[in-house]
Amino acid sequence: MCIRLSTLLSRFVAMARPAAFFDLDRTLIDCNSGMEWAKHEFKQGNISTYQLAKASLWMGLYHLSLIDIEKAYRQAVTHYAGEPVEAVDRRTREWFHDDISHRLRDEARGALKDHRDQNHPLVILTNSTCFEASIAAETWNFDDWLANRFPADDDGMLTGTFETPLCYGEGKVEYATNWARDHDVDMDASYFYSDSLSDLPMLERVGHPRIVDPDPRLRREARNRDWPILDW
Ligand SMILES: [Mg+2]
Repeated sequence: MCIRLSTLLSRFVAMARPAAFFDLDRTLIDCNSGMEWAKHEFKQGNISTYQLAKASLWMGLYHLSLIDIEKAYRQAVTHYAGEPVEAVDRRTREWFHDDISHRLRDEARGALKDHRDQNHPLVILTNSTCFEASIAAETWNFDDWLANRFPADDDGMLTGTFETPLCYGEGKVEYATNWARDHDVDMDASYFYSDSLSDLPMLERVGHPRIVDPDPRLRREARNRDWPILDW
């Protein structure tokens, strides 16, 4: 009986564990890394001026949460069909270390330390690629990452498609909820840091939404709901 009680108690304690989820673009870092990647690809001669202009337009619409995200992703990933996963991973790694890793905001670093001190698992929850998210998690000492994934064929070549749902909007809630279930994390006790109105479903899902330098519409929502707004 004693054993059963202690098992139940430890389960209860484990279930009550919160996690801290962090959006990446314009939250952990002060820019949209998708745009930085597009600029990098242009400089390397991997995309055309037209493709760079199109990427700029998408990023602008993305920032305003006015984009058809699946359509934008479909067009972007088609470009990578037939590329070896290993090559994209290597290029992303080089780019991340040169252009992105130093852009982790000081305030984000402080928040990560606070959560780490409280033994909260740290998870990147982003609409960026699995290539970038995995490198970011490794570089900044996160426990895990959740991001968009891209199937490859048996020879390790990208098929030019993506897994659904995308890790965006309601999709982020699905990814995070599944992860929380598998790691005995309580979503109601958890934190989510984000800048974007597109993240409203996930901000509503956690017990502790944290709004970071929000876009105007999210600022309005946050004020109406008395959510903390952080000036990073
Ligand atoms: Mg963001």
